[in-house]
Amino acid sequence: MERKTRQHQAIFEVMVSAQHPLLAQEIWGLASTQVPQLSVATVYRQLKSLQDEGLIKAVVLPGQNPRYELASLAHHHHFQCRACERVFDLDACPGNLDRLAPSGFRVDDHELILYGRCSDCVSPPEARLAP
Ligand SMILES: [Zn+2]
Ligand SMILES: [Zn+2]
Repeated sequence: MERKTRQHQAIFEVMVSAQHPLLAQEIWGLASTQVPQLSVATVYRQLKSLQDEGLIKAVVLPGQNPRYELASLAHHHHFQCRACERVFDLDACPGNLDRLAPSGFRVDDHELILYGRCSDCVSPPEARLAP
């Protein structure tokens, strides 16, 4: 029980300090520095339980493994870098998108994903150092 709580806590702390959605593998990599011998299967179990508790939610980009972020975050959108495949949070939101829907339709919610290159990948360190 003690061990289970520690795993749970370590995984939740990884989620709290993350500035962007993380894959289970990435969570495993970060949490295993706190909990040696942490298995990926345990990470999946803990993620499921944190989801059931409403503390985290899955961020699913089409055709990709789910990433996870805190459920408490305010409405926001994501940016995926096509080079390094990391997913970042965006602050901006286009707001009410009713105008995109056919007339007579009511929009309740929207999802928006931007794709491109993150600042690291737009100008890799090697390129910046080059003469
Ligand atoms: Zn990148
Ligand atoms: Zn929005």
